[in-house]
Amino acid sequence: RRAAALADSHGEGATRDGHKVKLLANIGTLADAENASKFDLEGSGLFRTEFLFLGRESAPTLEEQTETYTKVLQAFGDRRVVVRTLDAGADKPLAFADLGEEENPALGVRGLRLSQRREDLLDTQLQALAAAYEATHGDLWVMAPMVATVDEAEWFAAKVRALGLPKVGIMIEVPAAAIRSSHLLSVVDFASLGTNDLSQYTMAADRLKGDLANLLTPWQPAVLAMIKAACDGGKTTGKYVGVCGEAGGDPLLALVLTGLGVGSLSMAPKKVTAVRAALRLHDLATCERMAEVALEAREAVIALADPTLLDLL
Ligand code: PEP
Ligand code: MG
Repeated sequence: RRAAALADSHGEGATRDGHKVKLLANIGTLADAENASKFDLEGSGLFRTEFLFLGRESAPTLEEQTETYTKVLQAFGDRRVVVRTLDAGADKPLAFADLGEEENPALGVRGLRLSQRREDLLDTQLQALAAAYEATHGDLWVMAPMVATVDEAEWFAAKVRALGLPKVGIMIEVPAAAIRSSHLLSVVDFASLGTNDLSQYTMAADRLKGDLANLLTPWQPAVLAMIKAACDGGKTTGKYVGVCGEAGGDPLLALVLTGLGVGSLSMAPKKVTAVRAALRLHDLATCERMAEVALEAREAVIALADPTLLDLL
């Protein structure tokens, strides 16, 4: 049955009983977009635009950005493309937006916080996105990184809407945003969970420190509780919540995330086949039961060895 599901793994993401979960690709460059668009997947759930800005003397111009965003949208045709605005800061430094050194860059002026101090950079980026949308009428969704408060979400949403862009959202990668997701979602159209940073900030463990890997796994019940809180906010407000952190590419975790209520999973393109096959083999009720087990576990479930979880498959 498993082999058949893998062999037959193409088309839309859905559980065995037809509950849809969009399968999307994480991309960072136009080349990534062109590559990912050849895969059997439903679009891009995370375009990390900072790759256009890093390692340069000056910011990319409006024309340069417009051209790149237009080509990325064209590569995906009518498939969804979720663009994340610039996520830079002391850990991803920009020569042309030097705000000085920070002792704790992960807790400093990064993501949307940098955009609020360098509004010019964000405005040019949003204008380029609006021009690319005008040229293609693609399925463009725009979201901000590192949002923590309703005011920040509202500030960003007002800018995006003023330009006539169709969908505005936020990343949920800070616990403050996860536990207040219904409030944040009430001012935007959608949210996407960044499980890499959400794990780092929930567990107070540097995501770049390999020897903290056991704390950083998104199987940590505390991280899953944050994800559940974010999804519950989506249910209350009727707004869409997806996942774009690395967690979505793990087939078993993808089932748990589906059980928690996420509507899409974005991952490296080559991971889509296995995740789609895992979804096809299980119905939503099983995913929900798996989510309960992983959430209620005393420790992070080491999925492949955990008999309670495997019994459900
Ligand atoms: C995340 O934090 O999970 C995320 C998707 O963003 P990045 O990995 O680029 O910080
Ligand atoms: Mg992040």
